[in-house]
Amino acid sequence: MAIHYDALGDKNPRAERIFEQVVEALRERDITPNALNFAVWYAYFNGNIPALKAEMDTILADDYGYQDRYGRELFDKYLLAEDSALADLDRALRHLMQSLARRIEQLARRMEKQTQTLSEASEQLAQPLDQERLNEITQTVLNTAEELKQDTEQFERTILSSADEIKRLRKELLQARMESMRDELTGLLNRRAFNETMAELTVAYEDRPDRLHLIMTDIDHFKKFNDTFGHLTGDSVLRYFAKLMLKTQRENEVICRYGGEEFAIIVKDDPLERVKERAEELRHKLTQAQLKRKTDAKHLGTITASFGIGQFHGSDDTIEAFIERADKALYLAKKCGRNQVRTEFEDSCD
Ligand code: GH3
Ligand code: MG
Ligand code: MG
Repeated sequence: MAIHYDALGDKNPRAERIFEQVVEALRERDITPNALNFAVWYAYFNGNIPALKAEMDTILADDYGYQDRYGRELFDKYLLAEDSALADLDRALRHLMQSLARRIEQLARRMEKQTQTLSEASEQLAQPLDQERLNEITQTVLNTAEELKQDTEQFERTILSSADEIKRLRKELLQARMESMRDELTGLLNRRAFNETMAELTVAYEDRPDRLHLIMTDIDHFKKFNDTFGHLTGDSVLRYFAKLMLKTQRENEVICRYGGEEFAIIVKDDPLERVKERAEELRHKLTQAQLKRKTDAKHLGTITASFGIGQFHGSDDTIEAFIERADKALYLAKKCGRNQVRTEFEDSCD
């Protein structure tokens, strides 16, 4: 039986060596072998992020040493935004898979030999034999059977534990990455995801200015709402508004919680007029909602939000200036009386 692990990619002895160092270090220091710790230690031994390496060296020199929470901090700081670092780890996990496949192949070869011995013995037993020879063959059969049993057990253990470990690490890694992009309260994408999306899209739309827009929206007089009904009820309103945005979300939109009671919708491919209609639709829908507190069904009245729209101006533009123009339009909407939509192309309330 030959197992083909070539499909997994070329051998990479360096990645495997680092991998072994990581496993050893985590075991030695009694560190939980979860994906975060794994990723951080992998990057540490890999040495390709000097700032992370320096910070780790400082941590390790300290009396308290490495702790899980340092792992999370380093992961967030150096690895999350760094796709290449996570790709490195993913590659390392694939190499682990490779060496696992190689170990299985070795075991399988051994087992093939044992099976051969057994079948030879069986052939000999078909012939007439004296007592001594019979004893010899019986002993060989028993020994080989025992070896085979042990090898099979080891075989199962190796496969089960390593394959599970790899699956778990990869799943955790993806999970960590996804969680780090979500806002806990509303389930929308968070500021980090917003930054990443903006960085990506402003490059992609460099040659298509006026086809990338940013709607910034901020709930009106939200402080007063919190003061009147309490922070928890305020939280439900934020969740309500997020749900409203998601329910009406179109395929060409990325919706994020920008911070506090401010949200951002990045709109691709639509002309300004269309984006204005979208903001107007949301503004209107929000005013229609009769809010009720869940716990005691108390009427909370209605809430409104103001909207500002910025337009990307292509390769001469910057992300900061783009956001600032949307912000300025939002400020104009507030200044002109709130509960309205303004664009960067307006500068007065008429
Ligand atoms: P404006 O119409 O000018 O936007 O007035 P405002 O009161 O909404 O604006 P301001 O920036 O003064 O206040 C924002 C409020 O939003 C204050 C803060 O307590 C509240 N807020 C921010 N984040 C959260 C949150 O996660 N939950 C709750 N309940 N309130 C929040
Ligand atoms: Mg605000
Ligand atoms: Mg507000």
